[in-house]
Amino acid sequence: MNPAARSPFDLILRRARVEGRLTLTDIAIWGGVISQVTDHIDGEGESELDVGGSLVSPAFVQPHIHLDKVGTLPVLGRNASGTLAEAIEILHRIKRSSTAEDVAERAGVVIRQAVLSGTTRIRTHVDVDTVGGLNPLRGVMQAAKEHADLCDIQIVAFPQEGVVRDPGAAELMDAAMREGGDVVGGMPHWETDDESAREHIGICMQLAQRYDADIDMHVDETDDPGSRTLDMLIDATARNGWQGRVTAGHCCAMAAWSDDYAGAVIRRAAAAGLKFVTNPATNLLLQGRLDTEPRRRGLPRVKELLAAGLVVACGQDCVQDGFYPFGAADQLQVALILCHAAQLSVPAEIDAALASIRHSAAQIMGVRGYAIEPGCTADLVVLDSDDMHEALRLQANRRWVVRRGTIVAATSVTSTINRGTDRPVGG
Ligand SMILES: [Zn+2]
Repeated sequence: MNPAARSPFDLILRRARVEGRLTLTDIAIWGGVISQVTDHIDGEGESELDVGGSLVSPAFVQPHIHLDKVGTLPVLGRNASGTLAEAIEILHRIKRSSTAEDVAERAGVVIRQAVLSGTTRIRTHVDVDTVGGLNPLRGVMQAAKEHADLCDIQIVAFPQEGVVRDPGAAELMDAAMREGGDVVGGMPHWETDDESAREHIGICMQLAQRYDADIDMHVDETDDPGSRTLDMLIDATARNGWQGRVTAGHCCAMAAWSDDYAGAVIRRAAAAGLKFVTNPATNLLLQGRLDTEPRRRGLPRVKELLAAGLVVACGQDCVQDGFYPFGAADQLQVALILCHAAQLSVPAEIDAALASIRHSAAQIMGVRGYAIEPGCTADLVVLDSDDMHEALRLQANRRWVVRRGTIVAATSVTSTINRGTDRPVGG
């Protein structure tokens, strides 16, 4: 290429397999945006990457994680009983003792892990309460800034200790939204009674309206069949005209509700345009602990929500904290866990599981242009596979991760079967 003549493309991915296209495809990117997707692009890009027939997907989206808590388990000891009560006890100790720098450092490790596994957009809930004040928020904001070249991070101001039962939390929530919160969180079921739960939702709704922000609440994260905060949130959404701007996360009590009640709530949720995030890894571990067999799975009714046409995304929730000792911030792993937890096994259901970490999660984060088409943001993951279902089954390596047209991560793994020392049989 003539060095004086700049290529019209920053990056061209050659010989990519793209879902819905029969032939291998070149993808050209300019200015962080996909500019051409066609069988062959003439000319050269400033950079070129021959992906050799590998599948290229829009990069994964993480719609629900707690970056202020990740990696805290090794710091303050294990959850010996495995219960929510002990997890909360551990959490309070950590919140009191962590500086913003501590939070930023731990969050950074997980953000980089997420990027390596193909995620370039993260929505994180961050505790805002009178225990930790605004330290968790400032720590996660610092981590987001330090990783702004790798990943978009949306922050949900999350009143983990309640609002009514934690006097001062409402004012801190307001301060958090002023300081950099993007979305108003909530956890109404954590209040002590229904009246307080309604008040909690009302306060959060007012805050969302004051800052013109979306809402993303933790809802009914309990095994209690009497937990009714999803119903209350739907009411408040419709009453305040916030349809399409509200996400309900966890929703574990749905597993304990009667079929009739669950069906009625799902219909009302659809009418109010609610979106859902299930966090199967953490909730499979935490819910139903006090049940004898048969044991509830503690998940929302994923199949029923999908059948009602609702957006259902899937989150990691926790990585190595007092609630959950595992987690790799890997959305492909989370989607596979969802398939098992919600019994998604036929092709259309597997597609829904894959959408839960891609298109549906993108909808929850309000991402526009999430596809491999001209005009869409060039956030892509190249999978070591030629088929998306196979990539899920085999947890395919993420060969390259592209963000806004720049290759930000690469993974290379070689596996070999050896029969005897002198007879390698390839891999
Ligand atoms: Zn959560």
